[in-house]
Formats: sequence, C-alpha cells, structure tokens
Amino acid sequence: MNGLPLNEEREYLPLSRLSQAEYCLRRAALLMNEQLWQENIDTAKGRMEHSRVHDHRIERRGNSLKLYDYEVVSEELGISGKCDCIEAEAWESGCMIPAANFPVRLYPVEYKHVTVREESSYCLQLCAQAMALVEMYHAHISEGALFFISSHRRLPVVLDDSLRRQVRQRAADLRMIRNTFSIPPAEYSPKCKKCSLKEVCMPKAKRSAADYCKRLIREATGEDEI
Ligand code: SF4
Repeated sequence: MNGLPLNEEREYLPLSRLSQAEYCLRRAALLMNEQLWQENIDTAKGRMEHSRVHDHRIERRGNSLKLYDYEVVSEELGISGKCDCIEAEAWESGCMIPAANFPVRLYPVEYKHVTVREESSYCLQLCAQAMALVEMYHAHISEGALFFISSHRRLPVVLDDSLRRQVRQRAADLRMIRNTFSIPPAEYSPKCKKCSLKEVCMPKAKRSAADYCKRLIREATGEDEI
C-alpha cells in the first residue's frame, strides 16, 4: 500500500464498491456481503481492457509522472482501493508524494470501457479517489477525468462539494450494510437490464412473488385491496 500505515484493526471497505452502491445498493450488498459475482459481456470487456492499466508502474517524462494502479486509502471514508492512473505535474504550490522529489499537482484519471457518458457512479468513484489523495498528501484536487478506453476520449469531471457529500453518503450506506450484513430488497428499474447480477437477484421475480402472495390473500379474503 505505497508504504502507508494502515490501521490493522479496521476493516477498510473496497473503494470500487462505492460506485456499485451508487448504481444499486442491493448490488453492492450482494457483491460485498454475499461475495456474488456474475460475469456478463460488459464486465468481461471491462476486465480485459482494464488489464493494461492494472499494471502497477510509474512512467516519468521530465517533470511529469503517471502513476498507474496506485493504492489509496481514506480514514475518513473507511475505504481503500486503487486509482487507475494519477497524473502528477510539477507545481510550486503542489503537494509532496513519495514518487517525486518536487511538489506536484495531482489529477486522478479513471478508465472506463463503455461509451462516453458521465454516469454519477463513475464520477463518485473518481471523487472518492481524489478525497483519499487529498487526505494522504494534503493535496488540492478540484478536477479529475474519466478516460474511455475504446474511443480514447477523456471527460473532465469537476470534483465539488456536492459530489464529495454524495461520496460521504454512499460510504455511510456501504458501512451500514456491512455492519448489519443486510441485503436491501430488490427494486426493479431500467438499470437491472444491464446488471450482471440480475440472474441471481431476480428483481422481477421478487416483485412477482409479492404480487402472487397478495393475489392469494385477496382471493382468500375476498378483499379488493390489501
Ligand atoms: S438486478 Fe436490479 S435490483 Fe438487482 S442488483 Fe442489479 S440493479 Fe440492483
């Protein structure tokens, strides 16, 4: 962990689960508490395209560095994880990091394999990485970027107070489901169509089962509504 001291008595939740929690809290709970994972075409493509990024290394060019697969931790959020890439450029008012002997400005970049889009879950993950870096190095980070691998396009993301509040809320949600080992009930939404866990989650089946029970009770009691 980049030589960082971690509190061994503390469980740090995976940073990547924050974006899952933003997408669907039930999905995050199934992944984290039930250790469920189902591959689909999207997750397989993402895994393959990420494999080059997930090679821990530092590239230097003059006073610029690119730190790939860089581990970060936030005591405030209780999370740890990795940044796909952190760009570090010499800057007088910047912070010091172990990989450079001059002050730098940090700019986190999160790699995505999907088509270009600014999804809140992606922005939230990027912001959480920036918050961890701010905590680790007393950095000032007001912007990062999403890099879309297939199209080679880069989308800047402003990391503002509103996004930071959202990160804190999702971290609290994750901590709650972890501490209680709870799995929130399924709520079918358009997101379920793309969710790799839909076969095990069965969001429609749960609703159908509930509807079925209601119908049985209605028939037994002769009531129109329950
Ligand atoms: S199928 Fe829908 S409700 Fe179930 S985990 Fe996925 S997104 Fe959430």
